[in-house]
Amino acid sequence: MDKNTRIYVAGHRGLVGSAIVRKLESKGYNNLIYHTHQELDLTDQKAVHDFFEKERPEYVFLAAAKVGGILANSTCPADFIYDNLMIETNVIHAAHKYAVKKLLFLGSSCIYPKFAPQPMKEEYLLTGELEETNEAYAIAKIAGIRLCKHFNQQYETNFMSVMPTNLYGPNDNFDLQTSHVLPALLRKFHEAKINNDSEVVVWGTGKPRREFLHVDDMADACVHLMENFDAKDVGEFVNIGVGEDISIAELADLIREVIGFEGEIRYDTSKPDGTPQKLLDVGRLNNIGWKAKIGLSKGIEKTYKWYTK
Ligand code: GDP
Repeated sequence: MDKNTRIYVAGHRGLVGSAIVRKLESKGYNNLIYHTHQELDLTDQKAVHDFFEKERPEYVFLAAAKVGGILANSTCPADFIYDNLMIETNVIHAAHKYAVKKLLFLGSSCIYPKFAPQPMKEEYLLTGELEETNEAYAIAKIAGIRLCKHFNQQYETNFMSVMPTNLYGPNDNFDLQTSHVLPALLRKFHEAKINNDSEVVVWGTGKPRREFLHVDDMADACVHLMENFDAKDVGEFVNIGVGEDISIAELADLIREVIGFEGEIRYDTSKPDGTPQKLLDVGRLNNIGWKAKIGLSKGIEKTYKWYTK
């Protein structure tokens, strides 16, 4: 990839998109294209096609999506399936029509069956029932993977898919109703400390296990793939994770420590646990020469610094 190649980052204000932009800029790429949601509605097919016709991007990072935590996903499933299907279909189709050289589609580890063996290998896709709290989102992401696969099959496009584990870092969503667990707990412990509260409420039993990857690592992996690999090198898609998980209770303890909150933790078991464990197998990723570098406590410290600034 030339430093002045035309690269479109869809979703450049989001957690992943903004990290990809930081990474590309730090590597000297100087011809990045991006539009805010107000300027370009990716669920609008005509607007997307007009944009591709005019801008002619050569490489596309498809990091735009409607995303949310366990509560948002289970209360607004129609929005999650509709918006994500529209965004993917429009961008992937336009990428084909306007001869994009390479596209990287970002999925999610929730595409895997609820009771998939752990750690989850790429080939476990579509081997069992999905977790019901995020089924709508998962179906849309699975459709995105297959869109890439079938366009490659029929039209010899070069569309890659990656499945990140739970991501966190700067520009995450910290809204307590719609966020994922890590930003939610950072905010809860921070506010409890400032207000001298005696306890912090953590949802569920604390027993589910999750894997967390800092978004700067994620962006590094995405750019590495875009620069060095083609869709045919990575199979249908590749997992991006660290290969280690922790329980929500351990995560809560870690965040409490980083923030220095001295009170208690209470588990609200009226809230859902979701899938019992989500851990990705990263064998395929390691085979293409990439490993996560940012440890969890370091990553939480960095994110907390960003949050309080
Ligand atoms: P998931 O990975 O799709 O299940 O999504 P989340 O990141 O939203 O939730 C992960 C786990 O953390 C679930 O078991 C939640 O019940 C638990 N959890 C504990 N406290 C919170 C919280 O304050 N917000 C969220 N979103 N999840 C929490």
